Amino acid sequence: MAQIKIQNLRKEFGAFTAVQSSSFTIEDGEFFMLLGPSGCGKTTTLRMMAGLELPSSGEIHIDGEEVGMKPASQRDIAFVFQMFALYPHMNVRRNISYPLLSQGVPKAEVRTRVEEVARILRIEDILDKPVGGLSGGDRQRVALGRAIVRRPKAFFMDEPLGALDAEFREHMAEELRALHDRIGATTVYVTHDQLEAMQMGDKIVVMNHGVVEQFGQPQQIYDWPATRFVADFIGSPPMNFLEFEGMIGIGGDHVVLDGHRVAVPVSRQGAEGRLTLGVRPEHVRFSDASTYRGKVLATEYLGTTQIVTLSTPNGKIKARISSAETVREGETVGLEFDGRTLTVFAGERGHALI
Ligand code: ATP
Repeated sequence: MAQIKIQNLRKEFGAFTAVQSSSFTIEDGEFFMLLGPSGCGKTTTLRMMAGLELPSSGEIHIDGEEVGMKPASQRDIAFVFQMFALYPHMNVRRNISYPLLSQGVPKAEVRTRVEEVARILRIEDILDKPVGGLSGGDRQRVALGRAIVRRPKAFFMDEPLGALDAEFREHMAEELRALHDRIGATTVYVTHDQLEAMQMGDKIVVMNHGVVEQFGQPQQIYDWPATRFVADFIGSPPMNFLEFEGMIGIGGDHVVLDGHRVAVPVSRQGAEGRLTLGVRPEHVRFSDASTYRGKVLATEYLGTTQIVTLSTPNGKIKARISSAETVREGETVGLEFDGRTLTVFAGERGHALI
């Protein structure tokens, strides 16, 4: 197991900066997600941690030792790729044994360790089958087996489930998380799928254009997004953004939206001018008592809940409400927002004031 500490890590490819100075710490045994849209620099960050790419500057500490310039082979880590890199002409046992045999581990020990890994992954019955004829899921398990068998300090995974279809992907995600809980090794996992990150991760780093936008537990990131980008990227449907001209002081507890006072949590910073009120769809309520009104544009039935799209004086929003409520397209309804969960964003990058 290992603690991994990243300090001011940066990567340039010629004139292009793929990763801007990034800092975060991955605690021993954590399942840690690097999340962001395509091209945001998550794979480059992972490859630097794994020793497959040299940093332009900054430091990587594994268990207190600076390893930034050390090759992958000297970092005692295992990398699991998206495409299962197996040896097609060998059977499952041989594929899993290979890393140990090439390290010169005695044959009897190899046998015991491969069988132990096969038990963990529940692939005992296919150990003597050629990998060529295996299903995608079994191939992925074998690839994992080959990584686990070395008992590395940490696992690095780059979209390992990316090649699987949606249903099977969910099943494998659960398996991977359960596997992590059984063996407890620090795992760093790259994904562009926010749901996967929320479901699997102990902690998440959200990246955009090479910048770490936020770093924390899934619930922290969902409830208190540090930037508008994070608020928009996490959650489905995403957070609503109501634009307004106004102000809020340090310690302020409300904003004025189209002449209506809306209570918000105490503000840590003050700002004025063009501001944005962030409201999660599930925190919008319909209330006859409210004079802040929206017109129902569309409804989408989702079983126990429905998503209602409304136009308001401050732009279009979506509300997630119970399907038991009757809503008609074209009608005007009073709207209330749950004041404990609102966020206000300001500035060019849309940083959270609360
Ligand atoms: P994806 O999910 O698409 O792989 P990512 O977030 O993992 O995206 P990276 O692969 O880290 O992103 O790439 C970040 C940026 O750096 C991209 O714009 C990419 O084109 C660029 N890049 C990556 N590797 C190189 C390289 N070897 N030379 C030049 N540019 C590179």
